[in-house]
Amino acid sequence: MRLATRVPVKLLLVSCILLLVPTTSAQTTSQPSAEELAQDPRVARAIDWLTKNASWINEEQVRITETAAPPFHESLRAAYLKRLLSAAGLRVRSDEAGNVIAERGGGTRNEWVVLSAHLDTVFPPGTDVRVKREGARLLGPGISDNGAGLAALVAVARALHESRLKTQRNLVFVADVGEEGEGNLRGMRKFVDDNRSRLKYMIALEGAATDYITNAALASRRVEVTLSGPGGHSWSDFGMPNPIHALARGVARFVKVHVPENPRTTFNIGAIEGGTSVNSIPYRASIKVDMRSESEPELARLENFLRDSIEAGVEEEMAAARDRGVAGRGANGKLETKFRVLGVRPGGELPDSSPLLAAVRDVDRYLKNASRLERSSTDANIPLSLGIHAISIGSGGRAGGAHSLGEWYEPAGRDLGLQRVLLTLLEVAGVTQ
Ligand SMILES: [Zn+2]
Repeated sequence: MRLATRVPVKLLLVSCILLLVPTTSAQTTSQPSAEELAQDPRVARAIDWLTKNASWINEEQVRITETAAPPFHESLRAAYLKRLLSAAGLRVRSDEAGNVIAERGGGTRNEWVVLSAHLDTVFPPGTDVRVKREGARLLGPGISDNGAGLAALVAVARALHESRLKTQRNLVFVADVGEEGEGNLRGMRKFVDDNRSRLKYMIALEGAATDYITNAALASRRVEVTLSGPGGHSWSDFGMPNPIHALARGVARFVKVHVPENPRTTFNIGAIEGGTSVNSIPYRASIKVDMRSESEPELARLENFLRDSIEAGVEEEMAAARDRGVAGRGANGKLETKFRVLGVRPGGELPDSSPLLAAVRDVDRYLKNASRLERSSTDANIPLSLGIHAISIGSGGRAGGAHSLGEWYEPAGRDLGLQRVLLTLLEVAGVTQ
């Protein structure tokens, strides 16, 4: 709905610009095909480097993974990525958010093609992040998400350095903070905010695999609801409004909500806590709720329903307390409700006519790689929501158990993923002759 109304406005704007500045349209970079690129000896050299250095890439993936990067504590891993990207001949800096940014100049146009991978994991400080090897399999929390993405970021930067290729648009490699959970995409938000006018195409590397292209952003909202009240003794204060009872009444209403299958819309109460002992009326109780949808209006509707349900639950509990004759005793008989937004991820879609989508599809044809389009919640949400062309793809190999302590990764087939990333990047960046 939102997109359908936005597209004509954008088209109008583009046509106005073309009318006003007719010369800019003549400068359009012609996009080389994957087949043409593969015949360039410098590209062949880059691909060769990736193939010959497979074990180096595996080792760096292990080292990156073993450098812990819990939510909001990515600085150690960021420092390590800085070293690796410097070794790939890049000028590397950090921004205020903690993102590592490495620009590969040489482009004749002041436009950026960005390759990014997030630094953070979902694992709290103290998690054992040592990587174990079982045959060809690497096991460890974060080994794929996003050890695989970060290893690919470094490998592609390094292979390009060895190839001495020059691109028409500048390539920018970014290891960003805060992608997972309550990080709320803060690294990508900051990066896009700071550099918006230069951003032409963005590719976010996410874990393993080569069988999907994320071209649409899943919108999501995460909220925490906290109810607090006077508390009291379970026997002598019986009847006093109880935050857990009120929350339970509200939750029972909320989970009966009808959500559409299309646009797919989901919800989950992932945490509930509160209270101190079995014979106390609790002072507080809270829940954490995750809501996602293919449609922003559906998501807004769902969030409103959550607020209404909780409010109704509180009213019901207050009415029960009044019936028992205990509500309204000064400040005592009241329940207070607080909604805290933990995260908002905006939705968006890549236009079907995007040169970036054409590039990755051309590369898939050339590599005989089958892939499907997917909607998901990734770093690409931020550029997509602003109309910047972005996709998220895997970096090759196989993996499983993401976000669990049993996470694993197998490098077999990584080659295909790395070539796919490299060729897509070069198609949209263009190479100089
Ligand atoms: Zn991830």
